[in-house]
Amino acid sequence: MEEKILEIKNLRKYFSIKNGFLRGAAANVKAVDGVSFDLYKGETIGLVGESGCGKSTLGRTIVRLYEPTEGEVIFKGQDISHIKKSQLKPLRKQMQLIFQDPYSSLNPRMNVNTIVGEALLSHGLVKKGQEYVDRVSEIIEICGLSSYHMNRYPHQFSGGQRQRIGIARALALSPEFVVCDEPVSALDVSIQSQILNLMMDLQEKMGLSYLFISHDLSVVKHISNRIGVMYLGSVVEMAKKKELYNNPSHPYTRALLTAIPIANPMKRKVMAAISGEIPSNVNTPPGCKFHTRCPYAKEICSKVAPENKEINPGHYVVCHFAGEI
Ligand code: SF4
Repeated sequence: MEEKILEIKNLRKYFSIKNGFLRGAAANVKAVDGVSFDLYKGETIGLVGESGCGKSTLGRTIVRLYEPTEGEVIFKGQDISHIKKSQLKPLRKQMQLIFQDPYSSLNPRMNVNTIVGEALLSHGLVKKGQEYVDRVSEIIEICGLSSYHMNRYPHQFSGGQRQRIGIARALALSPEFVVCDEPVSALDVSIQSQILNLMMDLQEKMGLSYLFISHDLSVVKHISNRIGVMYLGSVVEMAKKKELYNNPSHPYTRALLTAIPIANPMKRKVMAAISGEIPSNVNTPPGCKFHTRCPYAKEICSKVAPENKEINPGHYVVCHFAGEI
């Protein structure tokens, strides 16, 4: 039986707006609105969706950079949803984040030696001196840099090299679970595949589990075992990679797939496109949140919220007409 490293149960993260653009009325931005899934050891779940759909907030809520509003985050059998900061510290070693922007996520005043090694010292994993130097050079070499880079500063590296530093920093504490928040979207396409390959190699060597967040379905295809598609704070479809690409069943997933450029136009699948803007996640549409943009919407869609149906083993779709359209 596969070991679950993470169980997310009906997780919500709302941000309250007071005295804001709603003329004094208190309201909530429903950034994450009832997400549930399990992640297994050594697995990668790719999470995709348009900008503002809540995928980064979900990742940050899972690792407790944000306090969940409701729901449960169970990490290796322990409910960490509401534990105190002092209880979180030992867990921080096991859960890490790789950020999107390798330019702003590294402190320009710190050299690689400090960026990668400071967490080792603060968690008391190594002593200053040779042990520290050996451990930092070991990590940066695993991540494809050389030990002579240790005394250099972020501005002396290319974008791809800076992201290698970001990965080395995340892996320095030997975590088991890593949230990768758009880790390649700021990089040139030619560098993206190098970083993705590095992350897959490290996953195999270190037995890591990834939640890989991206707005780009062609990027998550490369690295994921399963893929979840998010819309307005909710996961509307989740399936194994092959099943999702061969049998996309939610109209929103189909629209995202249509947007992927394909070199050979003869292989392009014709799918109904969507139009219009993503609605506000303050006043989310009633019923199915996607009904304002869905080309298949019927009367029921604006009145009744659809359930999460399993249309094939492990393939879940939140749509009244899943498997029929
Ligand atoms: Fe479209 Fe209705 Fe399905 Fe929502 S429930 S995705 S509006 S068909």
